[in-house]
Amino acid sequence: MENKTQRVSEIKSIALVAHDKKKEELVDWAYRFRESLKGHQLYATGTTGAILEKRIQLPVRKLVSGPLGGDQQIGAMITENKLDLLVFFLDPMQSQPHDPDIKALLRIAAVWNIPFACNQSTAEFVISSPLMSRDHERLVPDYEQYLLSRPIE
Ligand code: PGA
Repeated sequence: MENKTQRVSEIKSIALVAHDKKKEELVDWAYRFRESLKGHQLYATGTTGAILEKRIQLPVRKLVSGPLGGDQQIGAMITENKLDLLVFFLDPMQSQPHDPDIKALLRIAAVWNIPFACNQSTAEFVISSPLMSRDHERLVPDYEQYLLSRPIE
């Protein structure tokens, strides 16, 4: 499949999410990298966002809580090209009532080639990237040909 490029601004839209047992880890990470997060637009699912905002003292736009549809809201943002980075600390040891939503979100991140950090070490790499503070271009698969090639009765 051909790719096209999409311009990503120096001010990134970043979604921050953590499963319950990973919330503390995410908040600690965000506090550590507070200066790097400052100046970007931060979004989070409801509960994560409330905890995060209190601790890091930065504005966070809170979506609906994950199990109530927040992950799907983030997926919609990706589809509408309104998100540049997804940081989602997953709990690999517990199944979640909204597992299908999480799977859908991760799939949509893959569809649109959105950087996605699922744990602390990946998030550390991503936030330390020089691309965080400047605009750049992201490759996005060009699905136009794919759509045209689908046989529709
Ligand atoms: P929450 O949702 O921040 O509202 O707890 C996180 C999740 O999707 O599990």
